[in-house]
Amino acid sequence: MKLTAKIVSIFLLGIVMLTALFGYLTVQSEYQQFKRIKEQNAASLGKEFRETLVVAWKSQGHQGAIRLVRDFANRHQQMLIRWVTTEENQPTSQADIPSKELALATPETVATITTEDSDGNEQYLIYYPIDIESSRAGYVEFKVPLNDVAEYTRLTTYRTTAIIIGMLACGLMIITLGIRMVGRRLDKLVEKTKRISQGDFSEPVEIKGDDEISELGAALNQMSDTLSQQQQELEAASSARISAMEQLRHVDRLKTVGRLASGMAHELGTPLNVVSGRAGLIASNRLSEDEVRDSALVIKSEADRMATIIRQLLDFARRRPPQQSVLDIGDVVSTAINLLKPMAHQRDVELTTTDCEPMITAVDPAQIQQVVTNLIVNAIHASSPGDQIRVSLFKQEATPPTDTKAPLREYCCICVADQGTGIADDAMPHLFDPFFTTKDVGEGTGLGLSVSYGIIEDHHGWIDVESQVGEGSRFTVYLPAQEA
Ligand code: ADP
Repeated sequence: MKLTAKIVSIFLLGIVMLTALFGYLTVQSEYQQFKRIKEQNAASLGKEFRETLVVAWKSQGHQGAIRLVRDFANRHQQMLIRWVTTEENQPTSQADIPSKELALATPETVATITTEDSDGNEQYLIYYPIDIESSRAGYVEFKVPLNDVAEYTRLTTYRTTAIIIGMLACGLMIITLGIRMVGRRLDKLVEKTKRISQGDFSEPVEIKGDDEISELGAALNQMSDTLSQQQQELEAASSARISAMEQLRHVDRLKTVGRLASGMAHELGTPLNVVSGRAGLIASNRLSEDEVRDSALVIKSEADRMATIIRQLLDFARRRPPQQSVLDIGDVVSTAINLLKPMAHQRDVELTTTDCEPMITAVDPAQIQQVVTNLIVNAIHASSPGDQIRVSLFKQEATPPTDTKAPLREYCCICVADQGTGIADDAMPHLFDPFFTTKDVGEGTGLGLSVSYGIIEDHHGWIDVESQVGEGSRFTVYLPAQEA
C-alpha cells in the first residue's frame, strides 16, 4: 500500500506542478502577446496620422495637436488616445511615465508602462513620439484597458485549478483502488515471505484473481513447498550425518579402549598379586588380629584402586550423547592422563603435565577426553623408550586459521608435545583424513585425528600441528574460552 501511495503521490505531484507551470506560462505568454499587438497597433496608428499632426502642430502648436488627436480618438473608440508632452506650463496633459524612459522612445520602439486608474483597473499606456525638425514636439498616448487580460488570466487560473483538483481526485481514487487491488494483496505476499524467512512454510498465501500478483502468490506457494521439502530432506541428511559421526566416534573410542586394555591388564596384575598374597596370608590363620586387619585394609585399598581403573575405562567406553557443561578443562586432561599412564609406563615413556591456572569453559567432557586420549596415544605410539611426552595447558589470544580477519579472542589451549618420530611432509596434508594411517594393520584405524578434528570443530575450535621428522610433534587444541 505504501508503495502504491508513494508512486501515485510522486506522479501526481509531478503532473500538478507541470500543469500549474503550463497555466502560468500560458497566461504570461498571452499577456505579452496582447501587449505586443497593442504596441504594434499604436505604432501603425501613430504612423498613419503623423504627417497631419506635424502640419497641425506647426500651424497651431499644442492646441492644434490636441484637437487633431481628439478627432482621431473619436474615430477609434477601442483605445483612449490623447496628445501629451513632457514640457511644463503647456495646455496639454503630462505623460504618466518617467521622462527618462519617454526620451528613449522612437517610432519603432514605443515607450510603454502599466498603471492603475483611480478605480484600481489596470491599464497599458503606449507612447508614440512625434519629432518635428529633430526636436520632440510631444507624444500620442494610447491607453489600453487591461480588464480583458485580467479576466482571461482569472479564467485560465480557474481552469488550471479545476484541472489540478480533478487530478487530485483521480489520484485519491487511484490510491484507494491501488490499496484494494495491489496494496492489500502485496501485504499478504510480504507476510508470507516473512513467514518463509522464519522457516514457517505452513498455510499457502491465497490471492484471488488472474493477474501478475496472483501468479506471484502461486509462485511463492510453490517455492515455499519446495523449500519445506528441501528442509525436511536436509534435516534427514543432517541427522543421518550426525548419527554416522557418532558411530565413528564410538568406533574410535572402542579402538582406544582396546589399546588401553592391554596397559590396564598389566596395571591390574600388581594389585591382583597383592590381593591374592594378602588373602592367602589371612587364609593361613598364621596372622595376629592386627596383622589380619592390616592385610584386609591393604586388600581394600588395592581393590579400590582396581575399581577406579576399571570404572575409568568403562566411563571412557560408554556411549553418551554430547553434552556441553562449564568446567575446568584441567580436570578432563588429568583424567585422560591417569587413564593413559599405565600404557605409557608399559612402553617406558614418561608422561608429564604442568600445573596451570583453572581453565573454565563450556565443553563436552567425554568428547574432549576422547580427543586428548587420541593425541596422547598417538604420541606414545610415536615415542621410543626413554622419551618424554609433555601435556600443557595455557590461554592464548588467537584468530581461527580459517578466518584470519576475525578479531582476536581468548582460547584455552591443550598442547601434547612428544619427542617421537615426527610426521613426514607428505603425510601432513592427510593427517585429519578419515582412515589415514601409517600404522600397521590392526595397529591403527586412521580415525583418531579425523574424529578429534570433528569434535573440536563442533566446539568452534581447531587443532594446530607442528612436527619435525626425527625430533617430535606438537599438537595444540584451541577451544574458545568462556566469555566473561
Ligand atoms: P591412527 O592412530 O589410528 O593411525 P590417527 O588419525 O590418530 O589414526 O592418526 C593418523 C596418523 O597420523 C597416524 O597413523 C600417524 O602416522 C600420524 N600421527 C598422529 N599423531 C602423531 C604423532 N604424535 N607423531 C607422529 N605421527 C603421528
